[in-house]
Amino acid sequence: MDDEYDAVIVGAGPAGSHTARFAAEGGAKVLIIEKRQEVGSPIRCAEGAARRSLEEAEVIINPKWVSGEMDGAMMIAPNGNFLVVDEARAGNEVGYVVERDLFDQDLAKVAVQRGAELALKCACTGLLKDENGKICGVKINHMGEEKEIRSKLVIGADGHESMIGRWTGLAPKLEKNDIISGLQYRMTNLDINHKFVQFFLTSKYAPGGYIWIFPKDENTANVGIGIVLSKITHKGHLKELLDGWIASQPKIAQGDIIEIVGGGIPVGTPLDSNVMDGLMLVGDAGRQTDPITGGGIGNGCRAARICGKTIAAAVKANDFSKEFLQIYETGWREILEERLYRNWMAKEACLNLDDDVFNKIITTLDEVGIEEVNVFNLLVVIKEKHPELVEKFQDLI
Ligand SMILES: Cc1cc2nc3c(=O)[nH]c(=O)nc-3n(C[C@H](O)[C@H](O)[C@H](O)COP(=O)(O)OP(=O)(O)OC[C@H]3O[C@@H](n4cnc5c(N)ncnc54)[C@H](O)[C@@H]3O)c2cc1C
Repeated sequence: MDDEYDAVIVGAGPAGSHTARFAAEGGAKVLIIEKRQEVGSPIRCAEGAARRSLEEAEVIINPKWVSGEMDGAMMIAPNGNFLVVDEARAGNEVGYVVERDLFDQDLAKVAVQRGAELALKCACTGLLKDENGKICGVKINHMGEEKEIRSKLVIGADGHESMIGRWTGLAPKLEKNDIISGLQYRMTNLDINHKFVQFFLTSKYAPGGYIWIFPKDENTANVGIGIVLSKITHKGHLKELLDGWIASQPKIAQGDIIEIVGGGIPVGTPLDSNVMDGLMLVGDAGRQTDPITGGGIGNGCRAARICGKTIAAAVKANDFSKEFLQIYETGWREILEERLYRNWMAKEACLNLDDDVFNKIITTLDEVGIEEVNVFNLLVVIKEKHPELVEKFQDLI
């Protein structure tokens, strides 16, 4: 590890590694620092990744991390009625179920092969500032040794609890409605349709969220629940809800748990700014996760590609100002911002829907059909048949 880089990227999740790849490809001298001793582990993810998003982000698809290719998605109402959406119509939500640890490791490997350096067991402990208060590097703890690394740019790709976001003031604390708490079991001996990801809408078991089944093979799947923090009333609540739902589903209840994961997902509005002089935020740290699905891999990689290219351009221009970094700011907002806002508003409006409304929504969508599943199209279709159901969503249509 040197004492000076063009860019130090904090966090070797998908957003950090993918940013590093494009920056290195463009000729920048890049260091990725990761506080864990191994990239990608432990996994905190249901492992669904949208094929189109990965393609748009130019992620190199490696069969090693493709656990399964999905034919589509099913949205299941509390009364058991369901809507089947094939992959072509499933918009940005369906495609692969991945091996998330291998996925993250592969992205990091590609970045290193393109010229980035990776330091493990290397935590960012603070930001370095010059005499004018401008960011000029990071303080790190690398395997117990405190060090300072100077860099022209610092990239916060340090996940939903981003310290970089907090230290800079770019990412304010999330409201309880804007963070999903997730709990997931990897289960085997299940009786499942392994070619479809399934989303269960149920106000009884997943108020302000949903339950998912993401298949890993013929009889193994990630079975999880994500609900907003504001709906969690006591310790152990999330587990009670997930266990209660599983007990109500005989084909799932027969299964056995082989792994447990938990974690938070930011589902707030986009930040006012993801850049300042000498610094950019990307991925969960930059609040680019979809507020309806909680999916952050695809969006993070799409934004990371632009972030990495912006690093390379800034190095060539020798300009690391907030003004120059607008290339990233306008670029990622062009492809993600409108959808993030719309889905955040939809998430807010969905928080208190009851089972009766979920039943009507799924039945209506099934009867009418839908060209491509996204929040806007769903609302337009429902409005035609049941305008009363979408009164709350008028602003979105
Ligand atoms: C239960 C659950 C299920 C999910 N399911 C899905 C899903 O199916 N599909 C999907 O698309 N998304 C899903 N997500 C969200 C997805 O996991 C995140 O959006 C994604 O990981 C964000 O990538 P990232 O690179 O921004 O951040 P992360 O993957 O969180 O990576 C951040 C990295 O930064 C490192 N780091 C943090 N602080 C420091 C520091 N100070 N110094 C050095 N390193 C640091 C961390 O160790 C970590 O490796 C899920 C999340 C949860 C919790």
